[in-house]
Amino acid sequence: MKRFETLDQIIDSGFCIGCGLCKALAPDAAIEMRMNTDGHLRPVPTRAIDQSEEQAILDLCPGINVTGPFSTDAAPGFDAVWGECRRVAKGYATDRDLRFAASSGGIMTAINIHLLNTRQVEFVLQAIPDPENPYGSIPAICRTKEDLMKANGSRYASAATLSTILDVLDLGEPFAVSLKPCDVAGIRNLQRRDARARDLVRFTQAMFCGTVPSVSALEGFYARRDMDFQKDRPTSFRWRGNGCPGPTIATMPDGRILEATYNELWDDNPWTTQFRCKLCPDAIGLQADIAVGDNWFEGVPKGEGEGWNALTAHTQIGLEVLNSCEAADEIKLIDSDIEHLNNVQPHHVKMREEMKSRLSACNDSGLAAPNFSELNLDRCSDRLSPDAQEKVRKGTAARIDQISRS
Ligand SMILES: Cc1cc2nc3c(=O)[nH]c(=O)nc-3n(C[C@H](O)[C@H](O)[C@H](O)COP(=O)(O)OP(=O)(O)OC[C@H]3O[C@@H](n4cnc5c(N)ncnc54)[C@H](O)[C@@H]3O)c2cc1C
Ligand code: SF4
Ligand code: SF4
Repeated sequence: MKRFETLDQIIDSGFCIGCGLCKALAPDAAIEMRMNTDGHLRPVPTRAIDQSEEQAILDLCPGINVTGPFSTDAAPGFDAVWGECRRVAKGYATDRDLRFAASSGGIMTAINIHLLNTRQVEFVLQAIPDPENPYGSIPAICRTKEDLMKANGSRYASAATLSTILDVLDLGEPFAVSLKPCDVAGIRNLQRRDARARDLVRFTQAMFCGTVPSVSALEGFYARRDMDFQKDRPTSFRWRGNGCPGPTIATMPDGRILEATYNELWDDNPWTTQFRCKLCPDAIGLQADIAVGDNWFEGVPKGEGEGWNALTAHTQIGLEVLNSCEAADEIKLIDSDIEHLNNVQPHHVKMREEMKSRLSACNDSGLAAPNFSELNLDRCSDRLSPDAQEKVRKGTAARIDQISRS
């Protein structure tokens, strides 16, 4: 089995997801995170990279290293796809302003506020809107409710969220992270090696994550209005939120407001998924204490409505925080079950079931093999018939062949 041997190989073979951890791990290489033409951040070393720094990247990069939490399948509420689920629920933040402004029901932000208020952490590391790029996100340390409210809403843009992680650890204060599953995978990789990270990262939340898409949806959004994505730059851009899913809103320098529905943005404009996202063995936050997503039946919104989240607590601390947040009346929860998660996240179930076959096609095509382990991919794959597994494998092989020819 071919293994990854260089940073360039991770990037060139499409396994980079722009988390920025390599920038933190390789200070001598002075890595810059630069936007590629698809709108994704990618690392560019500006000096030669030394061997020990490159080895640290190869060991910890979450693009190629995801080690799951599955030590046992006898754990409470175990499910092949969803992992250990100590509590499954649907719900929303009781703060009406938060619920309205947030991406879905505001549960992620409500839990972060609770963690700060109860002094379990001193701050939350998350992604906030980039003041220099209306579409972008940057990592930020949020110490107050006001800081956290700036971070809410989903931004479908890479954020290099781990690029500052060693500086964050240098602060020496306990903190939580509230990010994408692959960002949490990077944090877990670091924790396995770094005692400081084990000690200081006290809580992790992840959202269920479809992908960070290419900017072509935005190009389409402007083209449909006879405008140009490159030239017509808004002063602010809101992907969703202010309702559920809430409108996509671009505010232009002359005061014009351009508005689209969530379904128009994603259904009427062409866009692509990052290659690594098609091979994501954990896009549902299996490694996080709590994982949170949308609560739309069959995974798509049927118009506007009040925000709800579907969620699960994977760990004991996740369960305790969820319960204490509920007891403090900061979130309203209705208990639910795995069948409900399957109903509201069918694309994630399909992805987990297909992942072993997809990865096997990559292996057959001679691509270097990522280290994706303890993720229960065998059990997920067993839910498909041998014919269905073979169909997925052939389909993935054909797509890889197409990419390598283009
Ligand atoms: C890229 C992306 C893909 C998603 N795909 C799915 C999906 O397939 N299925 C699904 O059910 N839900 C998906 N979501 C999650 C969904 O949009 C909501 O974020 C989730 O339901 C939590 O809602 P909330 O109201 O509790 O979040 P809020 O309270 O609004 O908090 C949002 C949280 O997301 C973080 N965040 C926002 N943008 C980014 C970013 N670019 N990178 C890292 N962190 C970010 C914020 O820092 C904050 O912690 C996705 C979100 C993102 C950002
Ligand atoms: S550490 Fe993150 S940014 Fe660096 S190569 Fe890996 S996925 Fe890409
Ligand atoms: S699908 Fe997976 S790899 Fe892609 S952005 Fe989401 S969590 Fe990261």
